[in-house]
Amino acid sequence: MARFSDNQTQDFYSLASSGIQELQPYQPGKPVDELERELGLTDVVKLASNENPLGPSESVVDGLAKVMRELARYPDGSAYRLKEKLASRLGVGSNCVTIGNGSNDVLELLVRVFLRPGNEAIVSQHSFVVYPLATRAIGADLRVVPAKNYNQDLEATLNCVTNKTRMVFIANPNNPTGTWIDKVSLEDFVSQLSQDVLVVLDEAYFDYVTEPDYPDGIEFFKRYPNLVVTRTFSKAYGLAALRIGYSVSHPDIADLMNRVRQPFNVNAMSLEAAEIALDDQAHVQRSVEVNRQGISVLTRACDDMGLKYIPSVGNFLCIDFGRDAMPIYEVLLSQGVIVRPIGVYEMPNHLRVTIGTPDENERFIESLKRVLA
Ligand SMILES: *Cc1c(COP(=O)(O)O)cnc(C)c1O
Repeated sequence: MARFSDNQTQDFYSLASSGIQELQPYQPGKPVDELERELGLTDVVKLASNENPLGPSESVVDGLAKVMRELARYPDGSAYRLKEKLASRLGVGSNCVTIGNGSNDVLELLVRVFLRPGNEAIVSQHSFVVYPLATRAIGADLRVVPAKNYNQDLEATLNCVTNKTRMVFIANPNNPTGTWIDKVSLEDFVSQLSQDVLVVLDEAYFDYVTEPDYPDGIEFFKRYPNLVVTRTFSKAYGLAALRIGYSVSHPDIADLMNRVRQPFNVNAMSLEAAEIALDDQAHVQRSVEVNRQGISVLTRACDDMGLKYIPSVGNFLCIDFGRDAMPIYEVLLSQGVIVRPIGVYEMPNHLRVTIGTPDENERFIESLKRVLA
């Protein structure tokens, strides 16, 4: 407890709900500015947060000037135009779409609607840390299913479902492992699951995946009404700073989420940027191509160095150093290269590296060679 004044007799932690007392806050990747200040450098490379190394579409940058003149006005709280646009692209009703302040916001809305103390959510070991954070914050129970080859074990997940289970989180592909679930496995799983258990299928990296057996969650949602798909503009669309994502769900689920969201949960810049970004699919394709080439350069470099890694379909790669990776992370930092340690994911020997531009990838590979020499 922090003592704020001599008058203080109260420990505020003891007043907080017990789920929150036990939480550790989310640890973001180290910001470029911070490391540049610390090291006195100007050319720091950040490959730590799975951001798009190409940045946003030029048309987004141009289009935002128009919104700036309207900053005194509240945004469209119903996100009417963006919802219509997404709905027609995805072939769903606009009453199935919920827009969030990042897909993180949408995940939190789902948790608030469906989880409470006494019921339970299931996650996989090594899966995205936001799911346990949101679940614990609300005071619901969390069940962690051991992973199989770093991937979610859906058979084991099914065996863990009890009458307390309300939600199963599946990141496809998963962050930080880059592993993915194929169509048949997903179908097997969802078809056997009781409809009173919600499947939250997080497709943050959807655009990067080119495997023919990779399932499109929207097709599944059309057949399984208890499945909710979440997607984001933070990754392939290059809008991480603006915080905008969405879910596609049964209209009743969307209606429930709409009851608990903030009236203006998404700001006007983000709404406009997302609309423009959707119209620039060429930028998304370029981003996917840069990623495809980058990941092959990185995996080849790992092969040359004799380093193991987890095959990834995302825009990042988990490298296994076979020993505590923290010292390697620290030396990379001192050379101006920020990657992501993932001890919090029970993977202390791995570092997660985001695929960058060709130059950024070279910087990382050269630094890594120096570190391991
Ligand atoms: C990056 C990421 C997200 C996206 O979060 P936003 O809040 O939309 O920026 C969601 N899920 C996973 C698994 C991610 O890695």
